[in-house]
Amino acid sequence: MTLYFIGHNFRYECEAVMKLFFPARSFEFALEDTPAENSGDSALLSRKVYSGMADLRAVCRVGGKTSERSEKIPLNVKDYEHACELTLCRLMFLCLKEITGISPAWGVLTGVRPVKLVTGLLKSGLSEDEIYSKMSEYYVTKEKTALCLETAKNQESCLKGLDLMSASLYVSIPFCPSRCAYCSFVSQTVESFKKLIPEYVGRLCDEIRFIGEKFSESGLKLDAVYFGGGTPTAIPADDLDKIMRTVSSEFDLSHLREYTVEAGRPDTIDEEKLNVILSNGGRRISVNPQTLQNGVLEKIGRRHTAEDFLRAYEIAEKAGFDSINVDLIAGLPGDDLRGFCKTLEKIISLGPGNITVHTLSIKRAADMMHSDGFEVSPDETAKMVEHTNSSLMAAGYRPYYLYRQKNQLSNLENVGWAKDGKEGIYNINMMEEVQTVIAAGAGGSTKIVAGPGRISRLYNPKYPLEYIKRFDETVIKRKAEAFERINEAVGNGALNRV
Ligand code: SF4
Repeated sequence: MTLYFIGHNFRYECEAVMKLFFPARSFEFALEDTPAENSGDSALLSRKVYSGMADLRAVCRVGGKTSERSEKIPLNVKDYEHACELTLCRLMFLCLKEITGISPAWGVLTGVRPVKLVTGLLKSGLSEDEIYSKMSEYYVTKEKTALCLETAKNQESCLKGLDLMSASLYVSIPFCPSRCAYCSFVSQTVESFKKLIPEYVGRLCDEIRFIGEKFSESGLKLDAVYFGGGTPTAIPADDLDKIMRTVSSEFDLSHLREYTVEAGRPDTIDEEKLNVILSNGGRRISVNPQTLQNGVLEKIGRRHTAEDFLRAYEIAEKAGFDSINVDLIAGLPGDDLRGFCKTLEKIISLGPGNITVHTLSIKRAADMMHSDGFEVSPDETAKMVEHTNSSLMAAGYRPYYLYRQKNQLSNLENVGWAKDGKEGIYNINMMEEVQTVIAAGAGGSTKIVAGPGRISRLYNPKYPLEYIKRFDETVIKRKAEAFERINEAVGNGALNRV
């Protein structure tokens, strides 16, 4: 399909809206050109200026159907370029909705953080009615706006407790017992990288020591620690202990509001590892089945059963963590509404503090379909998500963080749900970009929040081997640079001020 642009080049947003309707198609672009008669599927998006007005027009032709819309806006409108871009996206959205009969629930909002937008509107003094009306300009449904508002309100108390001189620590352990078919992370199997693990752990501890020293020199307070990956519990208990001990010896943990270790895969959890986590200060863990349908688990390469999950959950619960998170995925190939509802019911009956429900990314689904020849239904997935929202609300869970990824089935979202007081602080701070996060380990991304609109990132090498080899000249050098930026923000009184 070709997108023709006349009088502008709003390529990124226009393509993103196209993908809402045609996620699996690829697009070509033509500037200052128009489609020839009888050419294939196309969208012509033009901006022409006449006597103080911009005439914006969208003409979409798909599968022999044509739809056309236009609107004029004055040249002196506030934020003219953005207004033109948004109007063209809206016109194209209406054309494609008419042609396909599909109405994406998030409208033309293609960003990752819709709650951030709603929080901004609340802060600017808009009433809820005004926010509903503002979101309807983007064609966001009332249900999704209500979900954003509820999430924003639930975040409020956690964000109020944010110390401006605080930062969080992320520790990356990018190893897993096997690779899940839908995985989009950089994670290596323990089996193939067994020899590398001791050296990786050694370097990771060196990096944590370096961060700890700079951290206390900067006068920062440690707010949350998050061990992610990968599956941190995939490595031997001794190695996990070494890393967690390094954190507790190098940092003052007295200000800590949360300490999470993503245990993740039930096939890596045993009493010894849970004791290591608890004895080093970990208070929150994730035990993630993704689904309790054994047939689906097998197809997605998880190498554990629903029964393994229930066993792991039981020992985690007995161990005495403050909160357990359980991750599920809606839209897994081979799953259906009935299976998904059964899984959700069972999880709700266990009563974890958090339940996080992701929607499968269509890119991953496509990869899986290529290899296995089984199908994923976007409509069925939308029903799973709808069912999730009503069931979890009825069971006393509230949404507390929400984000979207590119290519999600039916253009849906990922939502973290929590019982009262069990909200994951790190998740909120991370998603709403309100706090500096320092990351250690391969694939870690350090984010420095240094004033309104001033967020910068520094990345560690992606893969463990690269991380080990480039430790001095890349990892330590970038960390030193990160602390220069942090100290500057502290000096300007701008750290974590958004
Ligand atoms: S457990 Fe998570 S990180 Fe590991 S392979 Fe599966 S999806 Fe990827």
